[in-house]
Amino acid sequence: MKRVIVLATLLMAGALSLVVTASQAAAPKVVEVEKLRDNLFMLKGGGGNTAVFVGTTGVVVVDTKLPDWGRPVLEAIRNLTPKPVTTIINTHTHGDHVSGNVEFPATVDVIVHENTAANMQEMRASTQTAPSGQPPNIFKANNGRGMPTKTFKDRMTIGTGADRIDLYYFGRGHTNGDAWVVFPALRAMHAGDIFSGKNIPGLDAVNGGSGLAIADSLTKAADTVKNIDTIITGHSTTMTVADLREYAQFNRDFANDVRTAKAAGKSAEEVAKVWKVPAKYAGYATPIPVRLLQNVQVVFDELK
Ligand SMILES: [Zn+2]
Repeated sequence: MKRVIVLATLLMAGALSLVVTASQAAAPKVVEVEKLRDNLFMLKGGGGNTAVFVGTTGVVVVDTKLPDWGRPVLEAIRNLTPKPVTTIINTHTHGDHVSGNVEFPATVDVIVHENTAANMQEMRASTQTAPSGQPPNIFKANNGRGMPTKTFKDRMTIGTGADRIDLYYFGRGHTNGDAWVVFPALRAMHAGDIFSGKNIPGLDAVNGGSGLAIADSLTKAADTVKNIDTIITGHSTTMTVADLREYAQFNRDFANDVRTAKAAGKSAEEVAKVWKVPAKYAGYATPIPVRLLQNVQVVFDELK
């Protein structure tokens, strides 16, 4: 009798966990739309921040979020404009910025940095996601749909006048293919995850990221791109160029702290255990220990 009850309880627990899994899968995908200009919007939720730029004849989308978020993004765009999406720009290779590509019409142009195009062929697990294993390659699963159709190396301009968009590459940081997407007429740009927010960056060495180069890349962006009032970050609120300069210094200080500690004979674990966000960086997030150790290790490996 007792065994039967236990078995029934186990079955019920199983059924309950199935229900939970199903309801999670069906959880509504809510895209939060923030209007930055009359024709520029930031779409939050479902991974990295998406920018929607409504041009004279069509829409340019920067980053397309996690798998199954492409359609919700398209629906949100339909509420903003009847114009068709003509172009996707991906700031870098990560799955929370590119996966929605496969849900857009196959005619849409996809523009990325040339190193990101190479990374998207592989869609390797990043330094940060590697512990949970290699994810399936969403582009291979969709017969190559959503893959890049155009690439750039240092700079590219698309459109003219009010429609103009400038793409820049300022060197390694989060990955080796971090594109900066500038809307000159709107004094705005999307930085992607090389400036994800006021937090330690994800230094994805698997995809060419660098803890020694990131500060210089950030500074180069702040020095080169003029007349910017609004920076769309990878995962946070919008920021200013002053915030960008502060973030460059934050990363320079981190690399220097690690370099100094390594030279003094400390191990990566020892450095990660004691490193704290310096007090002058008010409002910066306290790093998750595992992420901090990953970043220290990336810098250690680069200093070898
Ligand atoms: Zn990323």
